[in-house]
Amino acid sequence: MDPRLPRLRVDVFTVLPEYLVAPLSVSILGRALARGLIQVQVHDIRVHGEGRHRAVDDAPFGGGPGMVMMPGPLFASVEAASLGPRPLYLLDPAGRRFDQALARELAEGEGFGLLCGRYEGVDERVRQHLVDGEISVGDYVLAGGEAAALVVVEAVARLVTGVLGNEESTAWETFSDSLLEYPQYTRPAEFRGWDVPEVLRSGDHAAIERWRREQAIARTRSRRPDLL
Ligand code: SAM
Repeated sequence: MDPRLPRLRVDVFTVLPEYLVAPLSVSILGRALARGLIQVQVHDIRVHGEGRHRAVDDAPFGGGPGMVMMPGPLFASVEAASLGPRPLYLLDPAGRRFDQALARELAEGEGFGLLCGRYEGVDERVRQHLVDGEISVGDYVLAGGEAAALVVVEAVARLVTGVLGNEESTAWETFSDSLLEYPQYTRPAEFRGWDVPEVLRSGDHAAIERWRREQAIARTRSRRPDLL
């Protein structure tokens, strides 16, 4: 691999490339891409659509509501992108639930592809013969995989060295050690009669660390006991 190229490359396959433009051009993701820390390649599936109208979907065999994405344009789009050994995942509400552990796993590799479904979803042969797995961003149904792809890309990109200014922020944040993050405060020290806890202003770093750990455990116990 060319050492000048970013280690992590993500290929996103979509019928709505314009959906991804703003999120990929601003803030942390925008800066990471501009600095070449990661690479995101967006592929328009419709380029491989059929006929004059570049159709990518058709009615389901056996009847039923809505349209299903045809395998032809999806296979052609992925094959044209040459993913090499990088895995391809279908965004799918029936997939493996995306979480910080999976984000970490993906951030450690050389990159991956994300296939965004639309309409009623994709022809089953895509699931069986084109992708390496399915990823769900939660137990709800989105209109398409693009918002889900952005969730995955952003969560993974934050974990790539150099993307965040302060690497410590990923070491201590929520889910980093199966705990929710401790409460954070900033100026002013007193706001509408509500004070910042004294210990955080004490300058006693050991006491602050102890307090934060206790708070993180208490918060996790009350809000997400399943994590403990
Ligand atoms: N008929 C499908 C079903 O019942 O599972 C839902 C299709 S959904 C309207 C269209 C596309 O949005 C899906 O193919 C998938 O790519 C994406 N999608 C919807 N919800 C998602 C979720 N929770 N996680 C990941 N992708 C999702």
